[in-house]
Amino acid sequence: MEKAGFLSPVIPTFKKMEEIKKKDIRALTREQLREFFVSNGDKAFRGNQVYEWLWQKAAYSFDVMTNLSKETREMLEANFVINHIKVDQMQRSSDGTIKNAVRLHDDLIVESVLIPTKSRTTACVSSQVGCSLDCRFCATSRLKRMRNLNPDEIYDQVVAIDNESRLYFERPLSNIVFMGMGEPLMNYNNVLKAIDKITSPDGLGMSPKRITVSTSGVPKLIRKMADDEVKFKLAVSLHSAVDEIRTSIMPFNAKFTLSDLRESLQYWYEKTRSRITYEYVVWDGINDTQKDVDALVEFCRFAPSKVNLIEYNPIDDGEFKQASNAAIDRYVNSLEKNNIVVTVRRSRGKDIDAACGQLANKS
Ligand code: SAH
Repeated sequence: MEKAGFLSPVIPTFKKMEEIKKKDIRALTREQLREFFVSNGDKAFRGNQVYEWLWQKAAYSFDVMTNLSKETREMLEANFVINHIKVDQMQRSSDGTIKNAVRLHDDLIVESVLIPTKSRTTACVSSQVGCSLDCRFCATSRLKRMRNLNPDEIYDQVVAIDNESRLYFERPLSNIVFMGMGEPLMNYNNVLKAIDKITSPDGLGMSPKRITVSTSGVPKLIRKMADDEVKFKLAVSLHSAVDEIRTSIMPFNAKFTLSDLRESLQYWYEKTRSRITYEYVVWDGINDTQKDVDALVEFCRFAPSKVNLIEYNPIDDGEFKQASNAAIDRYVNSLEKNNIVVTVRRSRGKDIDAACGQLANKS
C-alpha cells in the first residue's frame, strides 16, 4: 500500500460551522462568478480568472490563485469554500492498476480506478456514494446509496487520475468509463454536467468519444440521453437476455424489463447511430447454456453491437462462479458467427479489490 503524497493533504475531521455555511464556489457558472465580482465593485474578468483556476488548474485553495491580490483571495475565502475531493489513500496493484479512496467534503468515501494498458490510461469513476440498484453479484450493491455525487466531485476524480497518469505513466489520461460505484443514469443531471466540463475547452477538453457511460439499463433515461443528443458512448450491463434469469440476478429487471430496455436501445441507436456495447459475465449454472447464447444473439440483432465478456470477480460468498472456458468459447463462437463483435476481458487490479464490481470501500 502506498500513500499518494501530493494528492493526499491532511484531512480535517471536524469542519468549523462557518465552513459548512459558506457556498461551494464551484456550484457557480462562469457568468455567475463574473457577476459576483461586478457586484463587489471589481472587474468581470476576475470571474474568468477564478473560473480558470477552479476548472482548468483544479485549484484546491484560494491561496494558489497568484494572479489575484491578497485582498481578493481573502474576500473569496470569506465567502466561499472549494469542496475539493481528497485522495485519502492510493493502492497500486501488481499489474499497474491504481485504486484511489476518495474522501468527499462530508467525509463520505468513494473509489476510482486508473487502468493502464500499453497505449491507454483509463479512469473508472464513481457517480454515486453506494448504489440504489441491487445486482446480486456486485459488492457496491451492498452499500446503501447515500447520495449522488456533484458534478465537481466526478470531475475531480478524473483530474486526480489524470495527474497520476502523468506522474506514474508519463502520459495524460486517454479514456473515461463510468463503471465505478453507482448507477450513472440515476444521477443523470450531475453526470451530464460533469461530462460537459470534462469535454469542454474550459475544463479538460477531452473528446466525448473517449468517454463511456455504463448503465444497468434504465429505459426512460436511455431515451432521454438519445433526445439530449449526447456524444459519449453507451455500455449496458446486460448479463442475461432472458427476463427470468436477469431478474434473478438483477432484481430491478422486474420493473425495467428486457423488452422495454431493448426498445429504448433501439431508439438510442436510431437517434445516435452509435454502436451499443454490452457488458456480460458468464456464470456457471446461471447463463452458460446455448439457449442463453441464442437469446443474447437475438437481443443484439436490432443494431450494431459489441459484447464484452468480462471475467467475474468473486465477492466472497461463493454463490456466483465464473463459467468454464468451454462456455465462454460457446458465446464467442456464436457471436462471431452472427457478426457481433466480441472481446474477452481479463480483470485488472483484483489484488487490491479494484476490479469491476469489487468497489466497496474495503481498504
Ligand atoms: N451501474 C453501472 C456501472 C457500475 S458497474 C452498471 O451497472 O453498468 C460496472 C460493471 O461491472 C457493470 O457491467 C457490472 O455489471 C459489472 N460488475 C459488477 N459486479 C461485478 C463482479 N463481481 N464481477 C465482474 N463484473 C461485475
